[in-house]
Amino acid sequence: MPVKVENLTYVYMPNTPFEKKALDNINLEIKDGEFVGLIGHTGSGKSTLIQQLNGLLKPTFGKVYIDDISITDKGISLKSIRQKVGIVFQYPEHQLFEETVYKDIAFGPTNLGLTNEEIEKRVKRAMDFVGLDYETYKDRSPFELSGGQKRRVAIAGVLAMEPKVLILDEPTAGLDPKGRDEVLKQIKRMHKEYKMTIIMVTHSMDEVAQLADRLIVLDKGKIVIEGSPREVFNQIDTLEKIGLSVPQVKYLAKKLKEKGFNINEDIITLEEA
Ligand code: ADP
Repeated sequence: MPVKVENLTYVYMPNTPFEKKALDNINLEIKDGEFVGLIGHTGSGKSTLIQQLNGLLKPTFGKVYIDDISITDKGISLKSIRQKVGIVFQYPEHQLFEETVYKDIAFGPTNLGLTNEEIEKRVKRAMDFVGLDYETYKDRSPFELSGGQKRRVAIAGVLAMEPKVLILDEPTAGLDPKGRDEVLKQIKRMHKEYKMTIIMVTHSMDEVAQLADRLIVLDKGKIVIEGSPREVFNQIDTLEKIGLSVPQVKYLAKKLKEKGFNINEDIITLEEA
């Protein structure tokens, strides 16, 4: 099991007036090759949860297992966990700094003590994963690329670490429609062709409905719904509870129906309150 979370609770600033329970008894298992969409409105605990998965934050209670290893046990190297779980944070292109695409993608692997041949192999593979032609782009400055291309270079930098689990935090945020399509197409391909285990945090229900095998909806630090996109979208009451408006729910239901999902007709004809 690549990811397993048991009774995970996380409290920011415990025992102070600012104490905040951001995660409340989360239980979760993610299988090899699964594509999980993590959704929920701002403040629901999504970023806190993903930071637990590679040890950036430590549970207040509970356990996190990566590859069946409890990552909070004494003697576990966080470096080895971070190689297994790669996180692409929001706006990752802001971290690009090298003068060529090659050097930027090679930056992480260079610190792993690999040979130059192995590094080159990894850069090539990572560029292939994100759909950037090696010869065309390797010597280009990342700063001359389009928004979607820059973002794909940044994703390739994490992929070059060859993580077992890839976490993408709002991977299309701030991109124009063309950039968004490019990035989504490559994410879909990474999952289909390379069978990666992917967790994608997003606000866009439309995007996850197309990509994910399973959706997990967080609300106030708890998992409130979990299931296939179809199962989740059928639970309209809960969707409204987490802050989606009636028009948003209707729009989604229509889209999902067009894609062949079995949608309760009552949702589409719903009246606004
Ligand atoms: P999301 O990613 O879904 O927007 P977060 O995980 O960022 O949610 O936040 C969950 C809750 O924890 C929110 O109430 C937020 O205000 C609080 N929180 C997040 N980061 C911190 C922090 N560094 N210190 C204190 N509270 C925090």
